[in-house]
Amino acid sequence: MSGEFTPVAVVTGGSRGIGRAVSLMLAERGYAVCLSYVSDAGSAQAVVDAITAKGGRAVAVRSDVGIEADVLALFEAADRLGTVKALVNNAGIVDVAARVDEMGVARLQRMMTTNIVGSILCAREAVRRMSTRHGGTGGGIVNLSSVAARLGGPGQYVDYAASKGAIDSFTLGLAREVAGEGIRVNAVSPGIIDTEIHASGGEPDRVARLGPGQPMGRAGTAAEVAAPVVWLLSDEAAYVTGANLDVSGAR
Ligand code: NAP
Repeated sequence: MSGEFTPVAVVTGGSRGIGRAVSLMLAERGYAVCLSYVSDAGSAQAVVDAITAKGGRAVAVRSDVGIEADVLALFEAADRLGTVKALVNNAGIVDVAARVDEMGVARLQRMMTTNIVGSILCAREAVRRMSTRHGGTGGGIVNLSSVAARLGGPGQYVDYAASKGAIDSFTLGLAREVAGEGIRVNAVSPGIIDTEIHASGGEPDRVARLGPGQPMGRAGTAAEVAAPVVWLLSDEAAYVTGANLDVSGAR
């Protein structure tokens, strides 16, 4: 790639699960990848190592999407790699199953700060770099929503579902706001995907328990979500913006 223009992709939560699969796939498509994590430095470095072993470029940055200074540092690291052309707002959290009448404010603030504020802050930084209005050359943003936004997550995580509903509105609004500035903004809404997020919600067996009951008889894989994310960022999706693509096996 030396001597050629190498676009930079920022992938939040790129160290594990769907973000890891997206990072690896974007690197294969020629992006230099700036990926973030918050706690598991080893997994983040393993993704960087996997990319560099294949001749790609990547950097891992400890950056909590809910902390503005961390987000600024993440994009400064991306700037050092080259020209930011893509953002995947992937970092997201769930919490243990609870009814709304049991939820404390600390849980709610953590959920909304990470899943909503974090995505909007990262998009702000991406737009400041990519928009033709700011002297940029355009680019793409993909937000990770969830089918939970339309299922609601009753008895389990209505707060998480509501945060993804916000992501759906944000995707549509931002897409329309920057459509004339060279930036496309889309969302993907996964169903049940086999990652560690379920364990972090106190249900490590969720995929095994619910997978067989899905319309396709199984949960999805991280790579099966990464592929449409990468497609949405590609020139093949040049007229696709403001879209929300279910990647849920008809869930
Ligand atoms: P995951 O396996 O739990 O991985 C989460 C990633 O996000 C990790 O890299 C983690 O880093 C990072 N992260 C967590 N909190 C962060 C923060 N505050 N700032 C920056 N990074 C943070 O999750 P996943 O299943 O791949 O999910 C990825 C996205 O898809 C999420 O937005 C999720 O809501 C959405 N989604 C997932 C499913 C599913 O079934 N898996 C379904 C629908 C939607 P550390 O390792 O350092 O903690």
